[in-house]
Amino acid sequence: MSSQLADFTARLLTRNGALVEHHHDEIVAVMPPALAAELDVAEYQRLAFDRRTAGPLALVVDYDSPLVERFGRVVETLGRIACAPSPPVALKAIDPEEVVTRAITLTNGIIRDCRAETGRARYVGFLVQFELLADERISGMTEVWVNHTTRSVPRLEGLVTRLLSSREGTADATAEVAASDDVRGIVADAWATGGAVARGQVENRLHDAIASLRRRRERDFTRLREYYEAIDEEIRRRARRALMKKDEAAVKAETSRLEATAQAFRGRVAELVDRYRVRVRLEPLAATICTLPVHHVTARIFRRSASRTIAVAWNVIDRALELPACDGCGTGVSTATLCDDRVHLLCSRCQGDCETCGRSYCRACHTRCPRQHR
Ligand SMILES: [Zn+2]
Ligand SMILES: [Zn+2]
Ligand SMILES: [Zn+2]
Repeated sequence: MSSQLADFTARLLTRNGALVEHHHDEIVAVMPPALAAELDVAEYQRLAFDRRTAGPLALVVDYDSPLVERFGRVVETLGRIACAPSPPVALKAIDPEEVVTRAITLTNGIIRDCRAETGRARYVGFLVQFELLADERISGMTEVWVNHTTRSVPRLEGLVTRLLSSREGTADATAEVAASDDVRGIVADAWATGGAVARGQVENRLHDAIASLRRRRERDFTRLREYYEAIDEEIRRRARRALMKKDEAAVKAETSRLEATAQAFRGRVAELVDRYRVRVRLEPLAATICTLPVHHVTARIFRRSASRTIAVAWNVIDRALELPACDGCGTGVSTATLCDDRVHLLCSRCQGDCETCGRSYCRACHTRCPRQHR
């Protein structure tokens, strides 16, 4: 079976009680009456996934088919969380010093005492639907993974598909999640980090769209300002003339016209800001929990006389050190700045300048600028 859609269809039907037989590029399904009724197909149904080779009796299924739309009803009843067995991959030895210094750069501190110890770490992967709501709408899907054990940020995109479609993983998938584990709790906890990571990823991906939006907003704002400035200028000219003529009634009329114009301008600006407001909405659709063999890597980071130990992981799938999470926002950082007070590890945004006074501060220590603004 070549196509992903064919594979998905066969699994979905089998899972819901159908007998499925593969026949060249087509599948033949014998479905329980309830399932057939739900999907609005015959109980004995031949399905083809390529219009060019489809036999006369087959129902052709592609991503635009009404049948795929109806799959939604069946999928809705499935769970949203899967526990996947870890893939059979061997862990090779690493040089902790080397992997740490290659992956992490500190702009104002040093790293020492890198150590590694083999172990296992629990990962949670999320399939996230995103939507950019602005004057245009852009939507799509992204996959993010969270290391629930060390909280470092792995790059495991594609692992969900690999885990869920691997045929070798027929062993008890839930074996690595103990019965006492609160699966929902684990997923909710991981989403606190995963949501932040997904947001960063999506904003990166939509960077061009967001930049173009800002450009259009600037352009519209300039037009609007020029338009109202011209009106304003004209009214002022008339007001000056009225003043010279000492025509008080006219002065009063022009003054109130000036106020009305300013108010209209403010109203239009508010509309503009609203029209171009960037809202990114994220919705986690499904989560996969998986345990992987890792090297638990620790290192000591020094800022002046203060120091702190950080823990990250090196996993078997992407064969690289996972990035430590920024203490301010949770996204992975390769070039980090340390804060003076508590040696927080920060991305450039979380040690950025205050918009009001222009001085930088740690977003992990302070939710807002600690300095007094006049
Ligand atoms: Zn940050
Ligand atoms: Zn400030
Ligand atoms: Zn700090």
